[in-house]
Amino acid sequence: MNDPFGGLGYALRRVVGALVVGYLLGLFVGHPWWGVTGALAGYLALQLLNLWQLDDWLRHRNRRDPPDTGGLWGEIVSLVSRLHRRKQFHKQRALALFRELRRSTASMPDGVVALNAAKEIIWFNRKAAEMLGLRRKLDFGINVASLLRAPEFARYLETGKYDSTVLVRPRIGEATCFELQAVPYGEGQMFLLVRDVTRQQQLEIMRKDFVANASHELRSPLTVISGYLETFATDAALPDELRSPMLEMRRQAERMTAIIEDLLELSRLEASDEQVVGSVIDIGAMFKLLRKDLMARNPSRPVELHCAVDEGLMGDPGLIHSAFWNLVDNAAKYTPADAPIVLRWWVDEAGCHFSVTDAGPGIAAEHLPRLTERFYRVDPGRARATGGSGLGLAIVRHVMQRHGGELQIESVEGRGSTFTCHFPPLRRVHQKFAIE
Ligand code: ADP
Repeated sequence: MNDPFGGLGYALRRVVGALVVGYLLGLFVGHPWWGVTGALAGYLALQLLNLWQLDDWLRHRNRRDPPDTGGLWGEIVSLVSRLHRRKQFHKQRALALFRELRRSTASMPDGVVALNAAKEIIWFNRKAAEMLGLRRKLDFGINVASLLRAPEFARYLETGKYDSTVLVRPRIGEATCFELQAVPYGEGQMFLLVRDVTRQQQLEIMRKDFVANASHELRSPLTVISGYLETFATDAALPDELRSPMLEMRRQAERMTAIIEDLLELSRLEASDEQVVGSVIDIGAMFKLLRKDLMARNPSRPVELHCAVDEGLMGDPGLIHSAFWNLVDNAAKYTPADAPIVLRWWVDEAGCHFSVTDAGPGIAAEHLPRLTERFYRVDPGRARATGGSGLGLAIVRHVMQRHGGELQIESVEGRGSTFTCHFPPLRRVHQKFAIE
């Protein structure tokens, strides 16, 4: 039968037994209470011995076997040694897992840095140490932004938009370039993934240089050819049968010139990622200019202007005009001659915004994500017929990036399109402009 008191029942029975034996022995010599006192003293001494053995074992339990005691003490010893074995097992398992994790992350081709909620380094793998020059132990607990002194990285951490990556050149004057991406987890903690993209960046620079140089080299001979074609086309002595091919040659030469000019503009825009500061632009005056250019092409075109007066824009006037004109020009190119075009400029708490709305053919949804790629055309035949270079929207996207803004495209096939340039609030300038 099970003892409901466990070891305690056994211990009580032993005490009572010792007292009875002590009492009987005391009775035998004529002093029963001496016998009881002796039994109690003996029992206490035994308990102290057990306690000392337990204490000694607990202090050196990694090197010694548990004491061989019975009763309540025996149960305590077996309970403690079971807990100790379980703790040892979990510790070994955690250690093995940690070693496995360290080995696997060490073999990763990318760097990984673990940060706590205060963006302090709590762990990093070998590759991250190599790439970012982190020192084990010394750099633990240091804020990552103060170690990686790159303003673009500090901005990236502040914005909290971690679905994108940031490029960082850690050493001034060197080509080394790392791509960093934060991967948040838990309560504010994050992993920082570091990838060496030096080679890709060098190839990208070579590509940009090639396009810029090729366009530049093509420009001079094309200017000469266009000049001759112009002279021939206006020459009264030109035979009639050559007049039409000559006009077509002129048209194609003009298209090539437009493509080269756009390629050069794109190259200039791509040459730097720096945000443009620029000067205050009077959007009202720019609207009038855009309308004048539109009317010069087609005087019967209805053009509506909705402009927040005295709300200017801080930006590069040349780049902004080029971006706005590309959008207005597209609206004119791709919509019927009598369809209205609406230009809007407004400000709100999200920033300032410019939009061009047309009632043209619209663009199918599947084309929208790729529309700002270079030379991407919805209908190549039609776009070429309109004389477009295929680079207009790529230029607009770059201009917006250099102004910290973005281009939004909304379109419904058969109903028309709206292209909106969103600028951040810091680009807004409230000022009275002179009335022309
Ligand atoms: P392109 O010089 O060919 O106009 P863009 O980069 O300006 O090049 O435009 C890319 C493509 O987007 C165009 O070829 C055209 O198919 C489409 N597109 C641009 N704007 C409009 C618009 N307002 N309406 C319909 N399609 C447009």
